[in-house]
Amino acid sequence: MHRHTDIPNGPNGMSVQFIFDNSYARDLQGLYLPWQPAQVPEPRLLYLNHELAAELGLEASALQGAEAAALFAGNQVPEGAAPLAQAYAGHQFGNFSPQLGDGRALLLGEVIDRQGRRRDIAFKGSGRTPFSRGGDGKAAVGPMLREVLIGEAMHALGIPTTRALAVAATGEAVQRERPLPGALLTRVAASHLRVGTFQMFAARGELDKLHALADYTIARHDPELADVPERHVALLRAVAGRQAALLAQWMNVGFIHGVMNTDNMTISGETIDYGPCAFMEAYDPGAVFSSIDHQGRYAYANQPRIARWNLARLAEALLPLMAAPDDETAVRQAVAQVTEVIDAFPALYATALLRGQRAKLGLERSDDVAADSALAEDWLALLQAQQVDFTLGWRHLADAAAGDEAPLRALFTDPQAPGVWLQRWRERLAAEAADAQTRAARMRSVSPWVIPRNHRVEEALAAASDEGDLVPFERLLAALRRPYDDTTQSAAYAAPAPAAVTASYRTFCGT
Ligand code: AMP
Ligand code: MG
Repeated sequence: MHRHTDIPNGPNGMSVQFIFDNSYARDLQGLYLPWQPAQVPEPRLLYLNHELAAELGLEASALQGAEAAALFAGNQVPEGAAPLAQAYAGHQFGNFSPQLGDGRALLLGEVIDRQGRRRDIAFKGSGRTPFSRGGDGKAAVGPMLREVLIGEAMHALGIPTTRALAVAATGEAVQRERPLPGALLTRVAASHLRVGTFQMFAARGELDKLHALADYTIARHDPELADVPERHVALLRAVAGRQAALLAQWMNVGFIHGVMNTDNMTISGETIDYGPCAFMEAYDPGAVFSSIDHQGRYAYANQPRIARWNLARLAEALLPLMAAPDDETAVRQAVAQVTEVIDAFPALYATALLRGQRAKLGLERSDDVAADSALAEDWLALLQAQQVDFTLGWRHLADAAAGDEAPLRALFTDPQAPGVWLQRWRERLAAEAADAQTRAARMRSVSPWVIPRNHRVEEALAAASDEGDLVPFERLLAALRRPYDDTTQSAAYAAPAPAAVTASYRTFCGT
């Protein structure tokens, strides 16, 4: 749907050939700074996602050796790329930062994948940019491989997410609390447009840029809205719809993003920025792992409220496009329109959440919203009261559906505790048509057996970062790619961490 003014670049002799078509660089001048990645001493490819490479039309045979390493470490900018640092602002923990931007990332360009989807190819950890402020622009091996593990787990769980195409070691130390081996991540995204991108140009009163940004965004993500008369509120509604669906998916797998600042919320509805995120172990609505989230602003149960808050910031940024500031009537009308969208978000989210919960409960009928919501809520209350592992609780509920309650009851401190609820659930199941085995299989297809357990992730990253041993990372990744398969190999990855590990587990931003 986007304007194709450039002829994509053809073969160029480089081993890895992206066919770029850089609409962001072309259409949004003034919203970014052209910039080059830093040179690094010793590029070495640590990870390459072959399946994703194929999706992007890359030749598998070319994806090895020194040239591939040089490319994914930023030393050899591929032909046709137009590297640039995107400008954006954002609310961080509720406070507005008027200028954030790509401080250690660069958009290389866009590729139309084999299914015709436009996808950003971007570096993370590619060196300082004019937006780096005090930062070094670099990234370390551990956190970049962490982004691979969590992102691929999310993808395998069917949750919209940016994805890691490659991680290359740089051969350079990055200085954190201690020196760590440096790395670059190559990230693939539906786009890197964020709530914070709109905030930046709204805050500066740069209406021409804001207009261009909105037009670009609509053309890229919601082309059917291009000609609707009230396209800006329609864009807001579309983003709210995607975020409601996304948040419901997060909540139903126990994902805690950890840093839901407005610059980390996408317009596309993909999960982005796997910094301090973590999966919940024992069910606890207040769960928070980020070392800097002292108030629990981004705690598990707060996430839907924060999404709504972030959408309200997007709404504010879109207002200047909907009404001239001196036209009071128009402003009042625009405010009413966006308010309606924001106020509708909780119900939209609740509907998406219940849809997911019903599938996890083995329910297909959707006529009694109040009773099914109560059934789901009471189940969660039970998990909380007995500190039951969220993932295994849901998974073993599928065994109970198949007739074996023992694995589920064994998760409870008091095995009798779920009795009354299970009885109620069975009464509700009586209204369903599916037989027990079919129901159990369906439940197992939406409640994973393997999630990225924090202790397993840390163990894999420590081996990779401290000893250069990628085997634990690769084994864990293989298990995460098949999250619903209950196999002997994956059993070790399904077990919860000891409670003491979870209690003291802390995650970090910007590492
Ligand atoms: P984040 O919360 O990780 O998405 O990052 C917030 C802002 O900090 C963004 O503008 C990043 O580009 C910037 N940033 C994070 N880490 C670094 C770093 N090591 N060097 C420069 N900028 C950074
Ligand atoms: Mg970010």
